[in-house]
Amino acid sequence: MRPPATTADRPVAIVGAGVFGLSLACALSEAGVPTLVLERDEVPGGLAAGYRCGPVVHDIGPKRFHTEDAAVERFIRTVLGEDALGIGRESLVHFQGRYYRWPLGPRDMARLPPDLVVRTGLDLLTGRSRPPRIVTFEDYVLTLYGPTLYRHFFAAYSKKFLGLPPSETDADWASTGLQRAIIDRRLELDSLRQMVTSALRPRGLPEPGFIYPRGGMETFVRRLVQRLEGTGGRVRTGSAVTGLRRSAGGAVEALEVDGETVPVSLLVWSGPLPAICRLAGIEAPALSYLDLHLFCVDVPRVPEPTFQWCYFGSPDLVFSRISMPDRFDPGLAVPDRTGLLLEVTQPEVERRGGDPQSLEPSLVADLRRVGLLGRGARAGEMRHHRVRDAYPIYRTGYRQAVDEARGRLSALGNLHLGGRTGTFWYNNMDGSIAQALEMAGSLASRLR
Ligand SMILES: Cc1cc2nc3c(=O)[nH]c(=O)nc-3n(C[C@H](O)[C@H](O)[C@H](O)COP(=O)(O)OP(=O)(O)OC[C@H]3O[C@@H](n4cnc5c(N)ncnc54)[C@H](O)[C@@H]3O)c2cc1C
Repeated sequence: MRPPATTADRPVAIVGAGVFGLSLACALSEAGVPTLVLERDEVPGGLAAGYRCGPVVHDIGPKRFHTEDAAVERFIRTVLGEDALGIGRESLVHFQGRYYRWPLGPRDMARLPPDLVVRTGLDLLTGRSRPPRIVTFEDYVLTLYGPTLYRHFFAAYSKKFLGLPPSETDADWASTGLQRAIIDRRLELDSLRQMVTSALRPRGLPEPGFIYPRGGMETFVRRLVQRLEGTGGRVRTGSAVTGLRRSAGGAVEALEVDGETVPVSLLVWSGPLPAICRLAGIEAPALSYLDLHLFCVDVPRVPEPTFQWCYFGSPDLVFSRISMPDRFDPGLAVPDRTGLLLEVTQPEVERRGGDPQSLEPSLVADLRRVGLLGRGARAGEMRHHRVRDAYPIYRTGYRQAVDEARGRLSALGNLHLGGRTGTFWYNNMDGSIAQALEMAGSLASRLR
């Protein structure tokens, strides 16, 4: 089956103007391939979009670049130029009413409740029971960290975040998520023994470096769009793809967008995986994504704690993470106040009645409980923003469902899946960029 030829009237269509879609479109367009990006939201960026909240443009949760791939780093630096700020890490975890650096450092280990230190030490000495196969999140974390740290730091947070018991969550949620939390091999905490030895090392280890765009992640997205349009590529926002037309041979010939039929030579899909199955008229996999609710609010500045972001695992607190944009770029500061971004996942919203707006009084009360809003101080107006499909939900068995769906979709011939949402893979922006650059290389040589 030969796909239709790529021309200006029949371009490569990329569904989704996230980091993946825009990076791919830039690379293809720069290689001379006619490209059209279609985005359902009113603004480009997907999970890396910015949204305005009072004087600050917030990211969707705390975000920065880290990569060990030279080509990806070159791409990021080329796009950002002088607006690539070098930043360090400043993340905390709130545990039993106190703040600790995360990953735990030597001083933090010493400040943990003594019974927890003793029990963690016993876990280390007695060794950890290894299940015959590591299938679930529970298996994975128990094996690496032992029961004490599992119970206190991982199980509660994961259950609160995903709304899924760790015994029903796939081990990939732990392996990808923990790598994300640790991120730098020099600080890799992939076992309890390593965690203790690295925490006890006298001078600590060099902090990993991260790249942050001056002005917020929105700057990166804006630059990508400018690059794309500068080489003749196009982005249409507010343009959800709601249908597709296939040839007798099965290939995608055209897309339905706002009641209009858009002819295409090839389709790259970075939207949700079940959605493309439904559009193609094939059986959709039982896979779902987690929606995230963001609440931004300004509060009078408190001297402590400060952080880029902090995890809150206690089921008594509504939010699961809070970030401070000005700790990424001081230019995002609000005079005399701190702009906070509170994250609440959809399962937590449901657990508390289902209406995100009704959570605002509890969120303010919880800010006081964790010391981010002083006695008698008033929080500013809170604004809510719902982020669709923020995380793929890794129930055990999800991988088989992904593979089967991909197998069924291969009948389309000229469809490629890409990006975090399209491949149902819990990757970071660097992963989406790496995939885009690789796909652009293989497509450009065929399509030019
Ligand atoms: C809270 C949070 C914190 C994160 N922190 C970091 C971090 O510190 N560092 C890091 O590198 N990464 C981080 N990430 C991950 C990063 O945001 C993602 O890996 C990256 O943005 C994914 O880009 P993507 O283009 O692959 O997918 P997406 O951004 O999901 O893009 C898919 C796009 O498809 C669009 N779409 C879907 N259906 C349709 C349709 N029918 N028609 C048209 N358009 C459609 C969507 O609107 C969306 O724009 C974080 C993610 C979250 C949620």
